[in-house]
Amino acid sequence: MEIEPYLRPLPMKEPQNEPFWEGIARHEFLVPKCNNCGDWNWVPYPACRTCLSEDLTWTKIAGHGTVMTFSVVHRGPPTFGKEPYGTVLLELPERPRSLVILGNTTGMNPEDLHIGMRMKIVYEEIPSEDFVMYRFAPA
Ligand SMILES: [Zn+2]
Repeated sequence: MEIEPYLRPLPMKEPQNEPFWEGIARHEFLVPKCNNCGDWNWVPYPACRTCLSEDLTWTKIAGHGTVMTFSVVHRGPPTFGKEPYGTVLLELPERPRSLVILGNTTGMNPEDLHIGMRMKIVYEEIPSEDFVMYRFAPA
């Protein structure tokens, strides 16, 4: 079977985000969790934003959330293609600090997006790039 080329840009893997992308490859969305105060820290940073501890562990989250806000892209950069698509800020249930992650939708008509909508994190295999990307789909 021929592997279809993937022509859209992909995130860059760097030493600081390596645990994150290794988790995504296993279909697990990992967020640094503070071992001192228990708070979740997204986007990742070398120290906890609540207590400044550097004792953080990449920890799996539940994998779902609600739409805080969104945008429907009808005409994006040509390399992204496949318009329209939705770009969503998803608020996660993990607490005490509110966690919001950014991602694109898949498997739905983005015109159906609405604030408060329940969504889950899904994983898209990209065989030609040996890469896995996360997306948001209706829960
Ligand atoms: Zn902390």
